[in-house]
Amino acid sequence: MGEKHSDLVNKSKAAFLKWRALPAPERGNYIRLFGEALREQKKEVANQITSEAKKIISESEGEVQEVIDMCDFATGLSRQLYGLTMPSERPNHRLQEIWQPLGIVGCITAFNFPVAVFGWNFCLAAVCGNSIIWKPSPHSEGCAELTKKIWDSVAGEYKDLVLIKKGANDASVELAEDENIALLSATGSCAMGKAIAPLVSARLGRNLLELGGNNAAIICPTADLDLTIKGVTFSAAGTTGQRCTTLRRLFVHEDIYEEVIKKLIPSFESLKIGDPFDRNIQVGPLISEQSYEAMKKTLDDCSNKAKKIHGGQKLDIEGGIYVQPAIVEVDSHIDEMNDETFAPILFVMPFKKLTDAIKLQNSVKQGLSSSIFTNDFRESELFLGPEGSDCGIANVNIGTSGAEIGGAFGGEKDTGGGRESGSDAWKAYMRRITATLNHGIELPLAQGVEFDSES
Ligand code: NAD
Repeated sequence: MGEKHSDLVNKSKAAFLKWRALPAPERGNYIRLFGEALREQKKEVANQITSEAKKIISESEGEVQEVIDMCDFATGLSRQLYGLTMPSERPNHRLQEIWQPLGIVGCITAFNFPVAVFGWNFCLAAVCGNSIIWKPSPHSEGCAELTKKIWDSVAGEYKDLVLIKKGANDASVELAEDENIALLSATGSCAMGKAIAPLVSARLGRNLLELGGNNAAIICPTADLDLTIKGVTFSAAGTTGQRCTTLRRLFVHEDIYEEVIKKLIPSFESLKIGDPFDRNIQVGPLISEQSYEAMKKTLDDCSNKAKKIHGGQKLDIEGGIYVQPAIVEVDSHIDEMNDETFAPILFVMPFKKLTDAIKLQNSVKQGLSSSIFTNDFRESELFLGPEGSDCGIANVNIGTSGAEIGGAFGGEKDTGGGRESGSDAWKAYMRRITATLNHGIELPLAQGVEFDSES
């Protein structure tokens, strides 16, 4: 197996101590170089992603592009790690926030975004002055090795800023229990988060959790159905249903239910399924036999409760585990809709009132992504308002998957509450100092408190 845990940590700590002393814009410059190297090797990295995570090549290229975008974002951010200056209530005082790096960031990643999730974490962690120890999914260690090689090609004396810790669950546990890991960022299933988070909390450490989703979309009567069907099909069947943001539950207004079903079924049936390296293919294989077993179990379990099941069968295609994405029509929110089955199963259910659909959407434990398809702005405003979606991502006239890096990514409730990628997500990778500076000759106390022996 890999290097001893304590050796990795010592190397990472030494890298951190050197790296944090570099001015942030210089750190940004290294990340810019990393982005340029990725641009040059985009094809190679995408091929590795498709080999291991088995997503179609266009999505793998998109995944590398996401890391390149993160590099550009972090390069700009390297001159914008702003702290606020607040007016002090005391004369001749300045009150300000100063942001400092944390130390070593541990980064556990899932199989399905083997490079992008590292990119979200690394670009922010590094620009903020931290080092990173990356524990990739056992399914995608080759992606981690290749990414590390590309970092090494531009990193000069800072190669150890990125270190890889290979292994199964016990490798994550070692990171979670180690006090040297200042922040543990963990991406994966809710079950993984529930196993890891208590270990970090027990040592009062910080974690950043990006866990499972159980995402829903609502289709209202005014929706543009051509656009909607495209959005639903990509979100539900794209990446073979193996995105955290995959659409799993669809609520359709009863007035358009039959019309939607009539369009959705042929859209699913016409999906091109096969070799993910073939550019005409839209849906590649599942990651493992175990994933297929999970899909089959969910479909079997709901077979007596569903109105109708379309698709879901294993396909006779060589070189992987291929399935026909399933549509399961139901009259009510059945138990099988409460869990995330990491495979292409879309439950579809009619609704009468939008408020009921929103309630059902929010009724599950996870809170990652959600969508509404409507041309009625009152409906979309309701969906985005305080009585609307309880998810970290809420889209209008777009499916639940395919986020851009500019916004903060993450979800609520069992999804873990973490935010990564754009906006001000960088703040999770730093510690905040509140500093009050006195440049006067008096020592006035805050809130008018008197502590003067002469008075
Ligand atoms: P997984 O939970 O099986 O594994 C994720 C990582 O955690 C791997 O590195 C694995 O080795 C480790 N791990 C798993 N169980 C563990 C345990 N009990 N103790 C310690 N370490 C453990 O997930 P996966 O199958 O690789 O990926 C799919 C899951 O990840 C889905 O639930 C998906 O929704 C989620 N995901 C979430 C996001 C997000 O940003 N919210 C992104 C991608 C994937």
